Order: sequence, then structure tokens, then C-alpha cells
Amino acid sequence: MSKYNHELLQPCKNNWQSVLAQAVREPQELLQLLKLTEHPLAQQVCIDKQFPLLVPRTFVQRMRSGNADDPLLRQVLSVADEQLSVQGYTQDPLDEQASNVSPGLIHKYHGRVLLIAASGCAVNCRYCFRRHFPYADNRVGRQQWHSALNYVAQDSSISEVILSGGDPLLLGDEQLSELLEQIAAIAHVKRLRIHSRLPVVIPQRLTAELMQLLSQSRLRTSLVLHINHAQELAPEHLGLLAQYRAAGITLLNQTVLLKGVNDDEQTLCQLSETLFDYGVLPYYLHQLDRVQGAQHFALSAERTQELYRHMQQYLPGYLVPKLVCEQAGQPHKTLIPIGII
Ligand SMILES: *Cc1c(COP(=O)(O)O)cnc(C)c1O
Ligand code: SF4
Repeated sequence: MSKYNHELLQPCKNNWQSVLAQAVREPQELLQLLKLTEHPLAQQVCIDKQFPLLVPRTFVQRMRSGNADDPLLRQVLSVADEQLSVQGYTQDPLDEQASNVSPGLIHKYHGRVLLIAASGCAVNCRYCFRRHFPYADNRVGRQQWHSALNYVAQDSSISEVILSGGDPLLLGDEQLSELLEQIAAIAHVKRLRIHSRLPVVIPQRLTAELMQLLSQSRLRTSLVLHINHAQELAPEHLGLLAQYRAAGITLLNQTVLLKGVNDDEQTLCQLSETLFDYGVLPYYLHQLDRVQGAQHFALSAERTQELYRHMQQYLPGYLVPKLVCEQAGQPHKTLIPIGII
């Protein structure tokens, strides 16, 4: 069995929009591509119309054929476990509605605002805490940016604007350029941060135009990639990310700790090391948010601590991401305490 699914390499030649347009949307097709239609896993597949399966072929091509436990497949395949209702798992675990200061703008922490710049995603991750987010009430477009940025302009304590979503890189480079200009026009904003899963899922999204846009802005920019497993990185990421870094863009990563995906000592250490090879620093390791439908990805507190201690023991300090969780009502993300052995 070869490492990659070469027969699926074809879409790589296209631009990111067409890769996205050709994404796999049917669980049956995904199973067929991975030669898993006869596997017991096929019986566990379920259809979720609210949050359907969506996965670009560039990501499928990094999955291992015939492996029902593939860590990339586990992140995107909708399975019956999602329909269980478990106490403590809710639709808005972070109570974001409470900090929704303007449509599409969340001001929860000092000095930073989170702007929901786009409502969809390039991939639907089954563990996502925004799977029930009322995007319909947070329509994003020029009108909403305008009132959101008015809010930012009136609060001089805000020094950083974070573009999030959905996935903010679903905006085209022209739209982003317009948005960045408007943000840069607010004198007290110094930093721009983009949180996106698109570059890892579709490397072609790392266009030269986007790089120029980010490097030429007056704002100091960082790009936070959302990578959960080293296998998500493709060979083409190496050169692309190197160019972004050379252009002065800070590259960080955040990971969600997920049972059946990356809950293993070697996997986590290898992720940190691979990220560094690609010029990316690990920033956060998130404990899963208690969102309804994602309970099967949860790890016990004991296992979480055990994994984290292992990382601390075997990695240089700068490759150990901060282990955090989001607690509603707190003024910052919460560091999860790790006992001294
Ligand atoms: C995570 C988050 C931020 C950014 O927090 P950092 O600790 O600076 O990474 C800002 N706003 C919201 C709503 C967040 O969830
Ligand atoms: S917001 Fe992020 S984690 Fe959630 S579905 Fe979109 S890409 Fe995946």
C-alpha cells in the first residue's frame, strides 16, 4: 500500500476554488475512494443535513486507503455516535452568544476581537464547536464588517483583530484585501491574526497574492493553522509555508486533542516536530469543547494529563503547545493544570 493515494492527486493542478467545488460530499463516495465500503465502518455512517460531510479531495488524498482508523478520515466522517445526546454537551458550550457585541463580532478577551469573516468552511470537522453556530444571524458581508469595524474603531483598547469563521480564507484575496485595508485604517489596531484550516486542507489556498497582502500590510500578521495530525501536511506545504515565513508572516498552529485521532504520545510529539520542520510553532493544544455531537472525541482528564506530561518530557519547551480549554465567562483561555509528578 503506497503512502499516498496517488490516483487522487489530480485536483492539485487546479486553483483552490475549483478544488473546493469538487469536494466530496457523500459519505458513500468517501468510503469508495478509500476502499472501505465493505468495512463495518460503513454501517456506522450517518447523514447530518445540518452539518453534512464536506471534504476536499486534496485532504482525502492524504488518507490511507483501506484504513478505517485513519486519523484524517475520523475527523470528517459523520458517524452514528454523533447522534447520542450526552449530559453536559450543549449547542453553545462557550456561551459565545453572550459576547456577540455586533453581528459577526465577538469581544470576549481584552485587546482582541474575533471577527467572523466568513460563514462556511472548506471542510466540516465533526468535533467543531461551531457546528451549531447561528451563522444565519451572523451574516457576514460589507454591511456587517462596517458596523463591526465601527465598534473596533471606537474602542482604543483593541490592538488585535482576529479573523475567524467559519473559515476566513474562504474569502477571495480581493475581498480580504478590502477588509485588511479597512482594519489597517484603524490606528490603534496593531496586529492581524487569521485562524484558518483552509491552508492545510487545500494548500493551493496559500496563493502568492495572499502572501503579498499579508506581508505588505502595516499590521503585523500571523496565520494560525489548525492541524491535528502530522499526516495532514503534504509535501507542497513545505515550500509554500517557507515562503510565507520568509515574507515575515508568523506561523502558528493550534490542535484539538481528539480521541481516535491524536490521543497518543508519539502522534503528538511527531506533530510538534513536523510543524517545526515546516516552520510552524505549536501554540495551543485545546481540550475538546463540550459540543453536542462530539462527545465520542473526548478524553479523560487523566489521559490528557498523561499525554501532556509526555510531551513536556520529550520535547523542547518551545515545541510544547499550551494546554488550554475555553470556559465560558473567563477573561482568557484557561490553562489546564498539570500536577507535578
Ligand atoms: C481564542 C479566542 C481569542 C484569542 O485568544 P488568544 O489567547 O489571544 O489566542 C479571542 N477571542 C475569542 C472569542 C477566542 O475564542
Ligand atoms: S470552524 Fe474550523 S473546526 Fe469547525 S468545521 Fe470549520 S474548519 Fe473545521
